[in-house]
Amino acid sequence: MRKPTAPPCIVWFRDDLRLSDHPALHAAASTGLPVICLYVFDEMLRSPHARPLGSASRWWLAQSLRALQKRLGAGGSRLVLRKGSAARIIAEAARTTGANLVFWNEIAHAPRQTEAGEVAAALAEIGVASRSFAGDLLADPTGIRNKEGRGLRVFTPFWRRVRALGDPPKPLAAPETLRPGPDLQGAKVEDWRLEPVRPDWAGGLRDTWTPGESAGQRRLEAFLKTAVEGYVDGRDRPDRDNTSSLSPHLRFGEVSPRQVWHAARFAAAEHPALSVGVDKFLSELGWREFCHHLLFDAPDLATRNLQPSFDAFPWRHDDAALDAWRRGQTGYPIVDAGMRELWHTGTMHNRVRMVVASFAVKHLLIDWREGESWFWDTLVDADPASNPANWQWVAGCGADAAPYFRVFNPILQGEKFDPQGAYVRRWVPELAQLPAGLIHHPWSAAPIELKSAGVDLGKTYPGPIIDHGKARGRALKAYAELRAD
Ligand code: FAD
Repeated sequence: MRKPTAPPCIVWFRDDLRLSDHPALHAAASTGLPVICLYVFDEMLRSPHARPLGSASRWWLAQSLRALQKRLGAGGSRLVLRKGSAARIIAEAARTTGANLVFWNEIAHAPRQTEAGEVAAALAEIGVASRSFAGDLLADPTGIRNKEGRGLRVFTPFWRRVRALGDPPKPLAAPETLRPGPDLQGAKVEDWRLEPVRPDWAGGLRDTWTPGESAGQRRLEAFLKTAVEGYVDGRDRPDRDNTSSLSPHLRFGEVSPRQVWHAARFAAAEHPALSVGVDKFLSELGWREFCHHLLFDAPDLATRNLQPSFDAFPWRHDDAALDAWRRGQTGYPIVDAGMRELWHTGTMHNRVRMVVASFAVKHLLIDWREGESWFWDTLVDADPASNPANWQWVAGCGADAAPYFRVFNPILQGEKFDPQGAYVRRWVPELAQLPAGLIHHPWSAAPIELKSAGVDLGKTYPGPIIDHGKARGRALKAYAELRAD
């Protein structure tokens, strides 16, 4: 191994697969030392509350690592890939290269904090210093507390507190140059088998997404140029392309929330007419922040009801219903469209996520954790904070949750947010020939109307798995019994 004259330092990449606004990388580059960029694939499964990545996230991670390798390679550096215990691997890398300083960005989730603690301890043991930085949240969760010292459970006061902090620090530019560190043996992305092979189900993901920092920044720019103006009205419409699609880029840290914040504020300052859209957009970013602050206080957010009164809820075990929901065969077109969009593209429009989640939890009485797990496996933006927090929100057992008795009507939701049925036509092609007035409730069409649209209910498309009115009554009864206990 060739040793450069100055000892190198190490940057440990985690859920921050970018070069710009990367405080740890910035600090490392500022030392002027050669920099080793290291990514360790360690799912921390030995730690409580850690969970293995879902299949769609594994696919994204593979593409994102390749994109980062390419960016680093263009500047003469490289990303070293290793798999195993981060503490062992990073300490070993420091020992073999003579590095005496290691940098990383923090993640406010218990298993990741444990991991970072283990790395710091292993380094300290061999006399190597470490420095960690905040950067993937707008505000430090320890700084937003109520009088009792607990995190806030209601979004509006939470967001008011975050906004009162003023603008977060300006994003850092990517280092202009990085002195490459010594050669260090690493794995190839392929070695980790993150991508599906037989069957290769990722075609729809490839058609939909371009993972990586450059693509994420382009999306942000394009959104602020074209879509943010109509965001307030358009964000609820799955038949329109009116949201940013930044969530997987944020999930893997290809784009930082500070970058999003400042770019959006800049757009509004340049074009005041965008201010209303920008404010709403930033408050959605605020929901991401809220979910992460909840996770900081409740590391078991994916498994435990935030409201313990729900522990006795009489969830049903119905494998056939769960299967129909997963496969988009419930007979409710907006629900089926959403579930098929998810399966095909690894994402689903936010409004439809609420509708399908409500359908699973309230119409089918399926435990929210079952739905959350399916999303965890199939979403490219599956996020340890946002996924469980939103499922708990829909189920009624979460923080600032939608009340359980508010049961979404999937027919009205479809008619309101997909009025021409364009979204359903796209994802449920067997209903495409139905007129807009029938597409959200094909069972109410006359036989002749079904025939001329080529629909044979029960054969080409299922009848409703459950009657909406009955399902609503059953859900409300279950809830009333829970409250009476
Ligand atoms: P935009 O409307 O452009 O919003 C900008 C950003 O704000 C998003 O990229 C996202 O980071 C954040 N955001 C927006 N809405 C929410 C929200 N309700 N909660 C948290 N952050 C939000 N989002 C995830 O990132 N990962 C998940 O695993 C996830 N699971 C969800 C599960 C359910 C049941 C529901 C109802 C919502 C879930 N969401 C999740 C939130 C939301 O649906 C997505 O963030 C959004 O659809 C992403 O599209 P976008 O980037 O175009 O959003």
